[in-house]
Formats: sequence, C-alpha cells, structure tokens
Amino acid sequence: MQAKIEVGILGATGMVGQHFVKFLQGHPWFDLKWLGASERSTARKYRDATAWRLDGGLPASVADLTVAECKPGNAPRLMFSAMDASVATEIERAFAEAGHVVVSNSRNHRMEPDVPLLVPEVNPDHLKLIPFQQRRRGWKGQIATNPNCSTIVLTMALGALKPFGITRVIVTTMQAISGAGYPGVASMDINANVIPFIGGEEEKMECETQKILGSIAGDAIQPHAARVSAHCNRVPVLDGHTETVSIELSSKPSERDLIEAWNSFRSAPQERDLPSAPPQPLFYMTEKDRPQPRRDVERERGMAVFIGRLRACPVLDYKFLALGHNTVRGAAGAAVLNAELMFTEGLLD
Ligand code: NAP
Repeated sequence: MQAKIEVGILGATGMVGQHFVKFLQGHPWFDLKWLGASERSTARKYRDATAWRLDGGLPASVADLTVAECKPGNAPRLMFSAMDASVATEIERAFAEAGHVVVSNSRNHRMEPDVPLLVPEVNPDHLKLIPFQQRRRGWKGQIATNPNCSTIVLTMALGALKPFGITRVIVTTMQAISGAGYPGVASMDINANVIPFIGGEEEKMECETQKILGSIAGDAIQPHAARVSAHCNRVPVLDGHTETVSIELSSKPSERDLIEAWNSFRSAPQERDLPSAPPQPLFYMTEKDRPQPRRDVERERGMAVFIGRLRACPVLDYKFLALGHNTVRGAAGAAVLNAELMFTEGLLD
C-alpha cells in the first residue's frame, strides 16, 4: 500500500460517528480527513461540536478538524455514513450521485434491490450489484450498507450453516443499551428490567437476514427462502447483543458438523487478510455458560461472533447462543470491513 486513502464520516458527531472515529485510528489503509454533521455542528472544531462519550478520550488527530456541512464538494471519495435516519436517504444519495463511495451504517438504503447489504464473510458476492446500481441510477459513485447490529450477529452464525440447508429460524435477542445510541433508553426504564420492544427491529432482522443469505439473480438478490421469526428485547447490558437461536436444517447434520462448520468458517476477509478482519470470525465456546457479553464481547477486537450451548431443539432441529459486539462488529467495524472488501474488489479506484 502506498499513500493512504482519505476518508470522511457523515454524522461524525453522533454515537456511531464517534465509533467510526475511534475504529479508524491507526488504520493501515484509511486516513480520516473529513468530518460532517448537521448545521448545529458545522464550522466548529470537532472537539467543541461533539460530546465525546467513548473510552479512551477524543483522538488528538481529529480534535481540531473543522466539522463540515454534509454536502458533496470537497469531501474525500470514500465516505462512511452514520447519519441520522431522518436525513440519510437524501444526503447519502447526493454523495453517491456526485461520485462518492458511500459505505453506510444507516438503515435507509439497506433493502433497496440494487444496494448491497453486506456481511463480508457471508455475502461478498453481493458487491456485484454495484455496477447495476450505477448504471440504473446514472451514478458515478455508489452506496453499500451494513445490516442492523443484531442481524449481523445472526447472519454470521447462520452463514456458516448455509450449506446444511437452512429452512426455519427463530431468534430471540437480548440487546445492549449502547445499541440505542445516546442517551438511549432512560435509566429508570432499563435498570433491573427487560424491555420487550425495539421499534422496527424484528421486521429488520427478518427481512435483512433473508436478503443477506440470498443469492444474486441477475441484477438483484433472490432472498433466501428460510422463514425467520425474531423477538427483540433490550436488556441492561452495556455492549454486546446476545441471541438465542433455534434452527431447522434440511440436511440433518450432527452437532459435531455444526461446530466444525463454525470453527473452520473462513471467507473473503480472511483469505484477503483485510486489516479489520478477525483471523477466525466464529468461535464455538465449549463452556456450558458461555459466551457472556461482559466476559467475551471485547475478544478479537470485537470483530468475531461467539457461539455456544449447541443442543437438540425439540421443536426445530438445534438451538444455540450467539454473541457479537453491537457497536463494533454491528456498526463501525462492519462498515470499515465493508470498505476494505470494496477496496480489494477495485470499487474504490
Ligand atoms: P446520533 O447519535 O443521533 O447521531 C446522528 C448524527 O447525524 C449526528 O452526527 C448528527 O449531527 C447528524 N445529523 C442529524 N441531522 C443532520 C442533518 N440534518 N444533516 C447532517 N447531519 C445530521 O445517532 P447514532 O446513534 O449515532 O446513529 C446514527 C445512525 O446509525 C442511525 O441511522 C442509526 O439508526 C444507525 N445505527 C445506530 C446504531 C447504534 O448503536 N446507535 C447501531 C446501528 C445503526 P449533529 O451532532 O450536528 O446533530
């Protein structure tokens, strides 16, 4: 790698924006040079415009950058987006139209038929949608997205099981408070409690999973035929979404087959040695009471998914537990890994 690629962040002052800033520190390929936010923040130094809430302090390299208006013009070609959903549709589209590569964490464009919804280990081939997207819309730029944080954990675990023929999935989530942004859920509601509702989350998990596990059919994705049912809950955990999953598989593999499939699962990010790729994306833990968010979520820099408690399910075939870091693997880290994959596909040229 010669010179680093300059990158920017749309929505840099928000919670996910801060995770992008943190995740990109010291990145070997990408150099963070541009930060954008709303007119409330524009023309202010980043240190003054943002209330930094992540561990480790605001990185010195960005503290004095002036926050820009989210308009294409002098921004770098590669833009990560952590925009508020109320404005992401138009702003991301304007950047793609103007020739930028928009790698978005926002939900707005995820389900559009010509927009890749990427989990690089599971569906790297969905990047083949990009040329169709550019032709159809007349864009010089492009938009690629990463899924909802709880969908990423589920599809990582399911991706390795696809060869066994997934037919039905029932998933129940225990989602961390950090997934709700800041200030998120009121402490009076979440302390010593479970909130059995996260608006729109169950629908997102169900349809995003089918798109991610689906296959390219011409210029669109044929969604996977598996039926997916999701129950989503917010629990008093800071970081880490835990999910209990029951699954039906058409080829009736053994427990050993499943564990072997998870532990040996490798894909494009590992084969290409992408800087943010966990060398082993899935870990099966043999302890009877693991994984646990407090003990396991920071392992592998928060980029792997931990699985445990595989056993027979009396209703479907098997049941197990999966855990992933919602703000790293489920948000900023996911988008940066997407951009790394896109670079190796020549899409940033
Ligand atoms: P947030 O803290 O509210 O931050 C929103 C960002 O958007 C801020 O930088 C804000 O700038 C900017 N913004 C708002 N209105 C704008 C406008 N009119 N023009 C330009 N910029 C504008 O939200 P968040 O929790 O980081 O979430 C960001 C996105 O990621 C959302 O789409 C969310 O659904 C998605 N997401 C969040 C999580 C999570 O864990 N929180 C996980 C996955 C996905 P100002 O500071 O100037 O207002």
